[in-house]
Amino acid sequence: MAMSPAPRWEHAVVTGGSGFVGSHLCAALLADGTDVTCVDDFSTGRRANVAALLDHPGFRLLEADVRRPFEVDRPPDLVLHFASPASPADYLRLPLHTLETGSLGTRNALALAHDHGARFVLASTSEVYGDPEEHPQSERYWGRVNPVGPRSVYDEAKRFGEAFTTAAARARGTDTVIVRLFNTYGPRMRGYDGRAVPTFVRQALAGEPLTVTGDGRQTRSLCYVSDTVRGVLAAAGHGMRGPVNIGNPAEITMLELARWIARLTGSNSPIRFVERPVDDPAVRCPDITLARDKLQWRPLVDAEHGLRRTIDWFRSQEAQQARRAPGGAGAADPAGHRAHPSGRAA
Ligand code: NAD
Repeated sequence: MAMSPAPRWEHAVVTGGSGFVGSHLCAALLADGTDVTCVDDFSTGRRANVAALLDHPGFRLLEADVRRPFEVDRPPDLVLHFASPASPADYLRLPLHTLETGSLGTRNALALAHDHGARFVLASTSEVYGDPEEHPQSERYWGRVNPVGPRSVYDEAKRFGEAFTTAAARARGTDTVIVRLFNTYGPRMRGYDGRAVPTFVRQALAGEPLTVTGDGRQTRSLCYVSDTVRGVLAAAGHGMRGPVNIGNPAEITMLELARWIARLTGSNSPIRFVERPVDDPAVRCPDITLARDKLQWRPLVDAEHGLRRTIDWFRSQEAQQARRAPGGAGAADPAGHRAHPSGRAA
């Protein structure tokens, strides 16, 4: 399938650029010749994620909390708003921060884009669909979200962010696009962030039981991070406003995923069933017809390859830690963030 050539941006601002997806986005933009200012408060991101970019002449790191208005030292022509706690462990630990980043942070990032006439990309999420009655989920589906459940701090913040972005486009003419990312995985995820892939990989490598929530029949669709980044940049370079789903329609149950990761790691870890989180969606699968038709985008990395790359990265991190602290930390969370006490995976 032919890919449309992405325009060359001069200067992109990536909020949340030190996080998992944001750091891959920064690297892809730099590789494409775009200068990047990464704006991050390190509430859930890691400096190590962008350490390799610090020597790049086109890269700037601005430590700032986007809940307050912020400026950058050069006008951007692209603003990608990715700042937000994203894993259940993080947003349950940071409920007000999550709501404020999705609301005030979105307002401030939109203002930056508007003031400089820049294109604005909102990183929204499949969580706006909640626990869906429609399957797979297309952009036309409005979702089923519990506004007062524990997950609402994330889901509603993103829904508000979408509303704010749409209003800014309509009322002020800001050039915006909303991308709804489905579950993305890959290197730089944190082993204790509570999401399924890093949780299972960490547990499998440590020889611990793999904690599958509920009966494990709930499904997710996993998109490798390089595919997600390509999709985001394709949407940035297209005139569309979205929302547009970016995800991999290959659907898998959490039990299958746990067994798959156990096999790929060569682990003998047993499966342990644990309590399912409140309002956990039963199914999740993107309809990507719009992205295919408008952006000529589709995911290219299959789960076997993506999982192998992710496992290799986790192994390399463990080896580094072991060298630093012989007999020590194993897969400890370097950022000091621990999963929800149940140890459950998303
Ligand atoms: P992440 O936690 O690794 O990254 C988020 C980054 O935002 C971190 O570096 C964090 O320090 C930063 N941040 C948070 N609040 C901030 C604030 N107030 N000011 C400045 N920086 C702040 O999460 P991720 O998985 O990389 O997700 C990135 C974005 O993509 C999020 O907006 C998330 O909602 C969206 N998303 C991710 C996925 C996924 O599967 N990873 C799926 C759907 C949507």
